[in-house]
Amino acid sequence: MELLDGKKTSLEIQNELGAKVNKLVKKGKTPPHLAAILVGEDGASRTYVNAKVKACENIGFKSTLHKLNADVSQSELLKLIDTLNRDNSIDGFIVQLPLPKHIDDNKITLAINPKKDVDGFHPENVGKMTLGLPTFLPATPNGIMELLKRYNIETEGKNTVVIGRSSIVGTPMSILMSRKSNPGNSTVTLAHSKTQNLKDICLKADILIAAIGLPEFVTSEMVKPNAVVIDVGIHRIEDDSKKNGFRLIGDVKFDEVSSICSFISPVPGGVGPMTIASLLMNTYSACNGRD
Ligand code: NAD
Repeated sequence: MELLDGKKTSLEIQNELGAKVNKLVKKGKTPPHLAAILVGEDGASRTYVNAKVKACENIGFKSTLHKLNADVSQSELLKLIDTLNRDNSIDGFIVQLPLPKHIDDNKITLAINPKKDVDGFHPENVGKMTLGLPTFLPATPNGIMELLKRYNIETEGKNTVVIGRSSIVGTPMSILMSRKSNPGNSTVTLAHSKTQNLKDICLKADILIAAIGLPEFVTSEMVKPNAVVIDVGIHRIEDDSKKNGFRLIGDVKFDEVSSICSFISPVPGGVGPMTIASLLMNTYSACNGRD
């Protein structure tokens, strides 16, 4: 078994982007600028946003973090989005999900200028992705595609099973893997909470992508020997032996599955860092496409 090392790959991508930023700056251009909006005090969201901001700083991007209280009104949030849409110094921005219950995610996504939607969630960008047109690809699925590409994983003609149909991970993942591209060109099954005989479906997967949101849901009985396994899940579980009191696990039971598969992405250090790399790649292209 070989680890699909997202941490190492993400750093490689960040170094490549850092070199491109240096070139831009030497030409007298301003570096890419990413803004992030964080609503509320959710610990995991704060960690993700901070990691994104830090990655920007490491490679010479500019970043601006807008922290809003959990009780911010939807109209105030929309006002900030409008300001960022109009601000020519910002190349792209993200609104960290999940949002508090009183805010309608769809309204927020629709309000973002598609040209600055570096998370790739706006319907215009999702439509372009589905048609195979150039656009911002959603960060997590695109990060996974990049990981498969850099590890030369053969996907053409293979059976890919994606478990989970969320609009930010599972559904776009299934589209990207079925597209006429490399990686891609695979025969995709999109499984979800109403799927029957999930175990049998998973056992046919040459590439199994788990985005379910249930800790250690995928066990070795569900994995074909030598399959490629991508674990998207992230769960904090209490662990007194750790300084911060928790450790991270994924949607896959790593210990048993890793002994039968050919490649596996670990948690932490797999898909998470690739999501950040992908966001940075999108922000760089947003900056490259400046009017
Ligand atoms: P979600 O809760 O929106 O979707 C989960 C999907 O799993 C649903 O489509 C549902 O139909 C399916 N599902 C639930 N129970 C099932 C079952 N018993 N059998 C089959 N399918 C079932 O989740 P999401 O936003 O796609 O996130 C999934 C996981 O990935 C979470 O753990 C999340 O924290 C993690 N995540 C990680 C990253 C990253 O960068 N690594 C990014 C986004 C999400």
